This record gives sequence, C-alpha cells and structure tokens, in this order.
Amino acid sequence: MQIVVQNGDTYWRFSLIFGVPLQLIIDSNPAIAPDALQAGQVVQIPGYEWRRHTVVAGDSLWRIASANGISVELLMRSNPGVASGNLVIGAVLLVPQKITSRIIDADRPYTYAAVLEDYNALAALYPFLRSSTMGKSVMGKDIPELRVGNGSRIVHFNGSIHANEWITTCALMLFLNDYLLALSSGADIREAPTYPLYLETTLSLVPMVNPDGVDLVINGAPESEPYRSSVLAINGGNDSFGGWKANMAGVDLNKQFPALWERDAVMGPQEPSPRDYSGTAPLTEPEVQGLAALTRSSDFSMVLAFHTQGEVIYWGFQGLEPPESAILAARFAAVSGYEAIRFVDSTAGYKDWFIQDWRRPGFTIELGSGINPLPLSQLPDIYNKSLGIMLAALQG
Ligand SMILES: [Zn+2]
Repeated sequence: MQIVVQNGDTYWRFSLIFGVPLQLIIDSNPAIAPDALQAGQVVQIPGYEWRRHTVVAGDSLWRIASANGISVELLMRSNPGVASGNLVIGAVLLVPQKITSRIIDADRPYTYAAVLEDYNALAALYPFLRSSTMGKSVMGKDIPELRVGNGSRIVHFNGSIHANEWITTCALMLFLNDYLLALSSGADIREAPTYPLYLETTLSLVPMVNPDGVDLVINGAPESEPYRSSVLAINGGNDSFGGWKANMAGVDLNKQFPALWERDAVMGPQEPSPRDYSGTAPLTEPEVQGLAALTRSSDFSMVLAFHTQGEVIYWGFQGLEPPESAILAARFAAVSGYEAIRFVDSTAGYKDWFIQDWRRPGFTIELGSGINPLPLSQLPDIYNKSLGIMLAALQG
C-alpha cells in the first residue's frame, strides 16, 4: 500500500502507527534513505491494502477505526481534513486494511503461470520481498529466485527440480506467504518469533527450478515445435506425462551436478528420457547452469532441495558433510516425523554437489508418500510436516 509522506513523518512513526516492524518498512522502500523522508514522497507500507468506506448514519471515526482494527490516529492520518465533527453521510473514507490471512492459492495445479501470478500478488503486498532471475529454462522461461530477509546468513530452498514433484512448489509458496504474513504482522509461526529470523537470516527461494517440465506434467505436450514432437518421441508417443521428471530436453536435472557425475551417468539411460538421463556432461542444461551460478555467487550457509516422495531427509554425501549436518537432520526429523538417512545410492544431485564443494549442510527432503505426482489432497499434510523443517532451517 502506498502512502504520501507528510511533514514530520518518519519510518519509525509509520512502524508504530501501522504496527509493522521498522526494517520491513525500510526494506520495502529501497530507493528512499531512512533519514531522508520528505513531504510528498510516496512510501510503501507492507501488509496493507486501501479499502473504501462510505460513511453511514451513526458512524464515528472511532467506530470505523475499531471495525477495521486500526487506530483513530491512523484513520485521520489517512484522510487529512476529516474530523469527527464533520463526518458526512455518503462521504468516502480511505481505510488502511491490514491483511491478516494468506492471499495465494497454492492448492491447485501449480503451473509456471500460476506461480508467477501468486508471486506477483505477494510482491505487490509485501514489497520487502525481492526477486531476480536466476536463469532460463530450455523453452526460455525466466526462473525467479525470491529473497526475504536482512541477515548475512543465507539459507536456500528450492523445489520442482523434478517435474512431476511440483507439489513441492505448492508447499514452498505456502511457506513464503505464511512467513511474509507473520513478518508484517509481527507474529510468530509455531511460537517462533519471525522478526529475529528476518534480521539474522536471508531466505533464498527458487520455488520452481524446472518450469517447462512442470507445465508438461500438468498441461501435456506444448503446442510449440520442436518441443512438442521431441517430448512425445522421448515419451514413446505417450501423451500422458505423469512419470516425467526431466527437463524439456529429457535430462534429469538432479543428475547434472559435478559430484561423482560419471559414476551416476553410467547407471541410467544413455539417451534423453522422461527420467534418470544424466546428459552428456555435468551442467549442460540451462536450469542447472542457473542454479549452479546462483549457488556459486551466493555463499549459502545451508541448502534444502525439496522433492517427493518418501518422507525422508537425506543429509550426507561421501562423508564430506560437516558435523552439524547430523544434528540438523535429527532436528528436521523430530519436527516433521520424517526419517533422517545419511547416504543414498545416487550421486550428482544438487545437495551432493553443495556438500562436496562447500562442506556445508545440504539436504534432500522427500515430501509425502505415494506415487508421483502426489495428489493435491496431500498438500495440507505435506505442508504441516515440512513447515517445521523450513522454520528450523531458518533458525539454523
Ligand atoms: Zn525428485
């Protein structure tokens, strides 16, 4: 929500009258220095929307303010010139309304377009949410990376590296919305205060690493060539893509990282496939090139790659993981009910590469149970169990 600065306004005053933590207001207005507010400037207030109230008989400023959960001071501040004595029936007042519930709908087939729509809605309401493009897909879609936080400790989450595991994106976007909502309200999540997390940590989130693949699983083969013919050929002519994990080129993006790539590559198919093809070399695919470049430039303290399914947490790679990985894995298991497992047969995954090259904690979290793609009916249970893991990761 935008508000026009008046003489005497400060970010601190906005923080008090809106009940929004100070740093969130500062970070929502990166172009305006905190000590340089001037009358007439337009400032973004996160977590609020303007609504209009038409004055009816019996209204008072106090009554309108309390019905909307705001102070009389804020109502008067929002409507200069209006005082209790001159409320006119039929006049329209501007009322800042605090948003107190989720605004996105992640409980639907979560295509690339649906995620962008929800991201844009969140960015408009919570301008302290930052975004950049971390790379492009085979078909040229921009792959967003979102950031929340002011801290030097950067924790990275990603989802939908595997196309038919797109319910992971739903869980990540629900967490993003709940975190933004709690932050702007000064609220806790599961008794964990969120504002200290914001100040100490930065969340880096790539909710959908493989957007072409997700759209293929949800919508079927695209109209555009050469992609339509090639994915149908790779899929053996079958126009149902529920078993598809790869990107549009038939390469499994979680077998593309330079961490014992050669060992894994000989075990799977030797040509483009719906799943398990490692490609001709590590890092040939644009989606993983983007994710690798982001990781190299970001100094992540910890990474969590979300997959389905199995309700397990993989936390080791060749014994290269640091000692705190075991402690964190045990904590994640305790809060989710998932099983912590140190080693798995496959190599060349994202978390493998992160552990190998940084010797920092990396995890593959397998959400839910059943056959991919998991049905949306599992989303509440998946979110309930993974929420504790995401919070614990931010807490470090
Ligand atoms: Zn997976």
